Amino acid sequence: MYWELSLETMERRELERHQLRLANASLARARRSPHYGQALARLPETGLASLRALEELPFTGKSELRAGFPYGFLAVDPEEVVRLHSSSGTTGNPTVVYHTRGDIADWENLIARCMYSTGVRKKDVFQNMMGYGLFTGGIGFHYGAERLGVMTIPIGPGNSKRQIWFLQHLGTTVIHILPSYALHLAGYFPELGIDPRRDLKLRIAFIGAEPHSEAIRRKIEEIYGLKAYNSYGLSEMCGPGVAFECLLQNGLHLWEDHFYPEIIDPLSGRLLPEGEEGELVLTTLKREAMPLIRYRTGDLTRILPGPCPCGRTHRRIERIKGRSDDMLIINGVNLFPIQIEKTLMAIPAVGRNYLIEVRKVDHMDRLEVKVELNEDVFRGTLAELEKLQARVVAELRAELGVSPVVKLVEPSSLPVSEGKARRVYDLRGGLG
Ligand SMILES: [Zn+2]
Repeated sequence: MYWELSLETMERRELERHQLRLANASLARARRSPHYGQALARLPETGLASLRALEELPFTGKSELRAGFPYGFLAVDPEEVVRLHSSSGTTGNPTVVYHTRGDIADWENLIARCMYSTGVRKKDVFQNMMGYGLFTGGIGFHYGAERLGVMTIPIGPGNSKRQIWFLQHLGTTVIHILPSYALHLAGYFPELGIDPRRDLKLRIAFIGAEPHSEAIRRKIEEIYGLKAYNSYGLSEMCGPGVAFECLLQNGLHLWEDHFYPEIIDPLSGRLLPEGEEGELVLTTLKREAMPLIRYRTGDLTRILPGPCPCGRTHRRIERIKGRSDDMLIINGVNLFPIQIEKTLMAIPAVGRNYLIEVRKVDHMDRLEVKVELNEDVFRGTLAELEKLQARVVAELRAELGVSPVVKLVEPSSLPVSEGKARRVYDLRGGLG
């Protein structure tokens, strides 16, 4: 039932002593990096007397990670680094996260622990439909599944008919998939004459990388006849594997022997009492190449009260409610409205105002951008307008990595507001 019995079921007080030892070792490693060498200069050599004392230390934010590009957070000799991953950049430097061989081994083991806790065993067949590459989702699960000993099919996303062919002919039992793609893929079954509940052997799905409601999870479970588990992670910590649902699907166990969680008020930065909802802040306890101290994840959640009946003592977080910043996730790709603005404003024919709408079309996210033209362009020929529209689409696609639908509209036709303009309308429905 447990991948690592003694670690997963460690008695709370012992776990906290273990965390304090690990936190002090992590702080000592972090101080070897240029950033923390300065930020933690006043920390006594003896380290912290209690975990609670972490509260006195400064936060680390995404802006600091960007400012520290490329090596400001590296805490080991560069030759100890075996891999890097990067989250999608917004403006300026991307966020780069380095891994030593030990970091990779720990990460694989964490994913194996997550998968095992939902009942995945060596006899399973795992089809990984997440993207491989700089993004951590695909590669993280790939190596974790191999660590567990499961036959892994590194098929990646897309090519729906081939996905279904593999599901059918390899007898796939476990999938890792974007929730929106799971619903999209289901649209192919009727024309192929396949009843997924009858004709496929699927029993477990791991879903994550984009916000989705409980209703969507239940719908995926219903369509495929399986159990779908929520996964949580972020590339700054390792990737997926930070927190995961067990068989009981009642919150995500945050692996406290690897990460120390705090929940803060996102506005004041004040630590909130246990159980209150706020921004998740994480301190890495084991990472070597790039330890992060009090990292502000931007994700909103709370710590659920009481122990889980599964016997694991690591506390559970509620499924993520949303982001404290304005990031949009379009079919699993992260982007910021500011990227759209920046791109539009560099095109002279574009007027002052624009509007971003995101909605679900056939279960996939559709990004629609309405763009006001400036007065003289608007009086141009139809051919000129079509050419302009194609250019706006191409430039946005190059910047965002997703293809938007662009509508050119008359000057001054979009709503204007006093003060901070509301330009983003996420019409995909509420979470939770
Ligand atoms: Zn549990």
